[in-house]
Amino acid sequence: MPTTFNPPERTLMGPGPSNLNPRVLAALSRPIIGHLDPAFVGMMDELKGLLRYAFQTENALTFAVSAPGSAGMETCFVNLVEPGDKVIVCRNGVFGGRMIENANRYGANTVVVEDEWGKPVDAQKLEDALKANPDTKVVAFVQAETSTGAESDTKTLTEIAHRHGAIVIVDAVTALGGTPVLVDEWGVDAIYSGSQKCLSCVPGLSPVSFGERAIAKLKARKTPVPSWFLDLNLVLSYWTADGGGKRTYHHTAPVNSLYALHESLVLLQEEGIENSWARHRAQHEKLAAGLERLGLDFVVLAGSRLPQLNAVKVPAGVDEAALRTRLLKDYNLEIGAGLGPLAGKVWRIGLMGYTCRPENVLFCLAALADVLKTAG
Ligand SMILES: *Cc1c(COP(=O)(O)O)cnc(C)c1O
Repeated sequence: MPTTFNPPERTLMGPGPSNLNPRVLAALSRPIIGHLDPAFVGMMDELKGLLRYAFQTENALTFAVSAPGSAGMETCFVNLVEPGDKVIVCRNGVFGGRMIENANRYGANTVVVEDEWGKPVDAQKLEDALKANPDTKVVAFVQAETSTGAESDTKTLTEIAHRHGAIVIVDAVTALGGTPVLVDEWGVDAIYSGSQKCLSCVPGLSPVSFGERAIAKLKARKTPVPSWFLDLNLVLSYWTADGGGKRTYHHTAPVNSLYALHESLVLLQEEGIENSWARHRAQHEKLAAGLERLGLDFVVLAGSRLPQLNAVKVPAGVDEAALRTRLLKDYNLEIGAGLGPLAGKVWRIGLMGYTCRPENVLFCLAALADVLKTAG
């Protein structure tokens, strides 16, 4: 007969989830209340303010979708893409590929701008694609490509898209909290993130934010949003007080998970978001120097590396899966494997949120040195 499940305590240095601050874990265990309880509604209002801080925006339409980052992606595409819309997706890794899949499923006329895995999105290629496709309505790209560890320049790509009359959808799942994401300053129209990466909350929530141009496109739709659950028009009647100040039931909010997100965002605010970015940068530099001392080469060139996701090449002759298994078994340390064309060829070492601390950097380097020595 099954008994209580007691998971092992791991240090999570993969592509997410990251470790939870004890305060976030404690928030999860607080008493459940009704999702329309006035106390809960007050917490949700604070949560929206905290999310605006994380995204550096004043956008009123900023909230957490009750589902993981992939649902935030889907929320953007299902609401903002209409059948026949021309959508340019810039792909330089796994997650750009998923954007293409989303655009296609919602009937877009999709144009793909390809970049090599490990390189940032090439601004000139986007400019050329927009010149060749002047009827483009939406440009979509991933700021922090978790499959490779490359960071793309959201500010420049957004500026180019706007100059050609298109709005942008930005994937900031791994970016948010770990590296600057300046929604208002850069004029980002629609953006989604995830709770379990640099925000160090439990998985299953997707912070999103929509600016005026995105809302105008949503309001101008000729066809209904094809998803009932993700239709922003409906979700909003729950997340915002409509006219009379009364929230209406849409779905049962994940009450305790939202307490946890609230706490992780309070932690971010206490630290100061600029300090969080600086911490990720500083620990990444320490980790990168140590990895290079171990003879491991990065997938991404120095100028485009994400601090929070470090992809390194597996040395020739090393069984990468066996080594990861040893790290997990002997050290309770999780690092990530490669995805797609990088499967079997790289390790992805995450330094996200609460995990991103000096003691974990040193621990990871020491554990890697040990298992690499015996792996030859
Ligand atoms: C993790 C991730 C996602 C998907 O988030 P889930 O919470 O796993 O659904 C999307 N985009 C990027 C860049 C990611 O790293």
